[in-house]
Amino acid sequence: MRFSQLLIPTLKETPAEAEVISHKLMLRAGFIRKLASGIYSYLPLGLKSIRKVEQIVREEMNNSGAQELLLPMVQPADLWQESGRWQKYGTELLRFTDRHDRENCLGPTHEEVITDLVRKNVHSYRSLPINLYQIQTKFRDEIRPRFGLMRGREFIMKDGYSFDATDSDAGKTYEKMNDAYHRIFKRCGLSFRAVEADSGTIGGSFSHEFMVLADTGEDTVVICTNCSYAANTEKAKAMESTMPENPELLPMTKIETPGKRKVKAVCNFLDIAPQNLVKTLIYVADGEPVAVLLRGDHEVQEVKLQNILGVDEVRLADDKETFDFAGTPTGYLGPVGLKLKIIADLEVARMVNFTVGANEKNFHMQNVNFGRDFEVDQTADLRMITADDSCPSCGGKLELPRGIEVGHIFKLGTTYSEALKATFLDDQGQEIPFVMGCYGIGVSRTVAAAIEQNHDKDGIIFPLPIAPFQVTLLNLSIKDEEITKAAESLYDEFLKLGIEVLFDDRDERPGIKFKDADLIGIPYRVTVGKSLTTEGKIEIRERKTGETFSVPLAETTSRLKQMIDSAMQSCQV
Ligand SMILES: [Zn+2]
Repeated sequence: MRFSQLLIPTLKETPAEAEVISHKLMLRAGFIRKLASGIYSYLPLGLKSIRKVEQIVREEMNNSGAQELLLPMVQPADLWQESGRWQKYGTELLRFTDRHDRENCLGPTHEEVITDLVRKNVHSYRSLPINLYQIQTKFRDEIRPRFGLMRGREFIMKDGYSFDATDSDAGKTYEKMNDAYHRIFKRCGLSFRAVEADSGTIGGSFSHEFMVLADTGEDTVVICTNCSYAANTEKAKAMESTMPENPELLPMTKIETPGKRKVKAVCNFLDIAPQNLVKTLIYVADGEPVAVLLRGDHEVQEVKLQNILGVDEVRLADDKETFDFAGTPTGYLGPVGLKLKIIADLEVARMVNFTVGANEKNFHMQNVNFGRDFEVDQTADLRMITADDSCPSCGGKLELPRGIEVGHIFKLGTTYSEALKATFLDDQGQEIPFVMGCYGIGVSRTVAAAIEQNHDKDGIIFPLPIAPFQVTLLNLSIKDEEITKAAESLYDEFLKLGIEVLFDDRDERPGIKFKDADLIGIPYRVTVGKSLTTEGKIEIRERKTGETFSVPLAETTSRLKQMIDSAMQSCQV
């Protein structure tokens, strides 16, 4: 296609609204434009990339035996009431009433709709397994949409749902989906890891997340350098350290620590390591206060805490709430004499002679010991794993790269089929619930994640399989007859060979064309300029490496085709 005829409104400056790199670059490269908070228009280039991801997803889903359908975006409330999620889902569910006073929502996910469809139309084990998917626009009314397509309110998603007769069949379907997902992200040309994940609020027993690795990722991935262990931080178990044998428990003493509230300040003042201090944090769990004890250098993993407490929401109390609940200002809290529910991280139970707040302003307690000086209601693994931890599977060294979640597969079991009474007759004539799985891919998010992973100071560096075009062809001098003729003939040749080409035929200075080409990030750039008239040569440049090749005009097309084919080959599975 010709640049001069496409809507590609590139920008020189980064719009102030953009915080993360993919958002900045997608705005600057003219891929998207914001309509309202968290809601974007996909412009021609952005949509091309999205369609490419969709196509790969579609092919791999179809190859794995799944069938595509398309479900309504508007969903009636009564289905959600049946599953119990109308109340549970909270304010992310955008609800509205139609002219007949019927309540509806915009679908953030489709478990209810698909389960309803299957319960009405599938009645026998003979029809199983069934695996259905769609690629569709979803809506989640995020409280603070940000980061462009990374966390929008409206987004394009592939969601799939499987129905099996038995748990073991459902396990096989899960494995098929796991394989399909590996193929999908490999074919997108992305560096990614599948990690064990927490099943979260969606329910179910088992799940994996597919994380595109990127330094700018929101999530941390826990990967063993020695074995195949990989998990997200919600799931990654902290290994229990060994407790000192027969430790000498020193007498507890109270010590003045004027104005020292932060871990670091207290440790410096008392000349102790953070590993010898236990911090006490007040959390609000579904409205109730709970004190959390943690080693000074550790952090709470809030999803672990939420799961352990069995609540829907946990959040750190603010200073005022902390004072109201505990009667002590933040920074001087401790478990000794604290009249609140206390939950301690496992590591705390293995520490001796440690320092805690004295529950009195400007005072701490030293040589405090678990069991002797205070009791807790529960000990559990509730902290964020660190690079100092060992692999819970083999004891090996861990790495904690950053990642962006682009896919998630769940073994759901019978949670939804039981709630919605979705049953079939098994081979014994018994009526039993379907065993379900669900499988999501953030399609628009995958494009954003690809950009987070692949960019430089000049712009996007698209992986070839999902680039809006494979090649950008630059005519550097549209007034020069010879150059223009060569560029036009190359354009025709590329099109004939099925090479996807963006032809920059604009009447612009070369500098602008080069800048836009780098910004848009198309993998190959073919330049027709002065060197054609002087030496009969065309320049091919690879965006990723910056490597340039000077090629005779007559060989340009075949050379380029070779480069594209070999690069595509490396993303094949
Ligand atoms: Zn390991």
